[in-house]
Amino acid sequence: MAAATAATPHSLLLQRPSPSAPRAAAAAAASSIRLPARAARICCAAVAAPSASAAVSAAGDRGIYNFAAGPATLPLSVLKKAQEELVDYRGSGMSIMEMSHRGKEFDAAIKKAEADLRALLAVPDTHEVLFLQGGATTQFAAVPLNLCADPSVPADFVVSGSWSDKAFKEAKKYSAASVAWSGKDGKYTALPPFDAIKQNPEARFLHICSNETIHGVEFKDYPEPKNKSGILVADMSSNFCSKPVDVSRFGVIYAGAQKNVGPSGVTIAIIRKDLIGNAQPITPVMLDYKTHADNASLYNTPPCFAIYICGLVFEDLLAQGGLAEVEKKNAHKAGILYDTIDASSGYYVCPVDKSVRSLMNVPFTLAKGGDFEKQFIAEAAKEGMVQLKGHRSVGGVRASIYNAMPLSGVEKLVAFMKDFQARNP
Ligand code: PMP
Repeated sequence: MAAATAATPHSLLLQRPSPSAPRAAAAAAASSIRLPARAARICCAAVAAPSASAAVSAAGDRGIYNFAAGPATLPLSVLKKAQEELVDYRGSGMSIMEMSHRGKEFDAAIKKAEADLRALLAVPDTHEVLFLQGGATTQFAAVPLNLCADPSVPADFVVSGSWSDKAFKEAKKYSAASVAWSGKDGKYTALPPFDAIKQNPEARFLHICSNETIHGVEFKDYPEPKNKSGILVADMSSNFCSKPVDVSRFGVIYAGAQKNVGPSGVTIAIIRKDLIGNAQPITPVMLDYKTHADNASLYNTPPCFAIYICGLVFEDLLAQGGLAEVEKKNAHKAGILYDTIDASSGYYVCPVDKSVRSLMNVPFTLAKGGDFEKQFIAEAAKEGMVQLKGHRSVGGVRASIYNAMPLSGVEKLVAFMKDFQARNP
């Protein structure tokens, strides 16, 4: 990398200077204006390090480990690539944010993003891949609007936490949605044996949330839909692309990007093609899957920058060896965190049934109570581990450890947990 030549603040901020000096200078100026505090930290590290680029990649975490549930940490390599390309996208003289979504550059970017996602998840030709807007929340309405001919059509929901509960409540407006199983009485800490899901054979679809981001409950396998159309729908927002999935088992998969694959603003939907084109007449044009399938996700102006970043993340996941490799890393990271909780003699408590503990979101409490949780979160932040507060609806601590959370971040967290316990017995 060009920045390896000198460990000065500017060389660090300006990773790959463009051949055009004025543009490079503008990029450097923009970077240093936007990131004064962090830039200063990175620069200090670089002064003592053998080379600037080595220092940046060895830090790997910008001095902070971000355990946010979403928007969440992204791979540093992706952010740096986006930084390099931000002002002048691949020699076009424009940012990808500034160019037509119908021009050749963006066309290539969205096609490559789709192709790479198809490769990652081995999406079969029977399924369409769409880049949509409105977040996963909009899909809570879009799914019944597209799949149910009218609001009297039944649909089954497994309610395993806050997100599937929200999906169920929204679906009630556009279908005769009912709860086929609820984990509410058990405070959303378990999943049912599949034969305990009371499926209605007349239901149009069975809906699950594959990973409950707030409660930390994750499906390790998926129930067979017993409805006539064989449609299983999954909200995969918080474990999308964290492991291989047999897409052919699903009628619809949808996911907001902002946990594992990109920034907020784009929602990815993977839909069995035969399910497209039957939306209820009241369906807004933007919620009709056919609108987007017929227009290759370019019916209106798409979230171009978000799609571009997703494309960079997909490239990165492929370069890591694909989702089987990514899953191994995720299992290892989650394993050391759960082991630390379980070995703490009850000091830390994760209420989730061991067989369905999420590899992505690890909620836990401190048996000593809320004041200690506050102290834990505040001290962790001082150590550079941020956004560990549990969701406002459940409290406690939650460590979200998506694909882009490095192993070193989890190792630092578990070392801190052990130290905190030792200091506050
Ligand atoms: N489903 C799940 C599992 C989520 O975690 C979230 C967001 N945290 C949503 C749906 C809602 O997503 P959005 O904010 O993109 O509408």
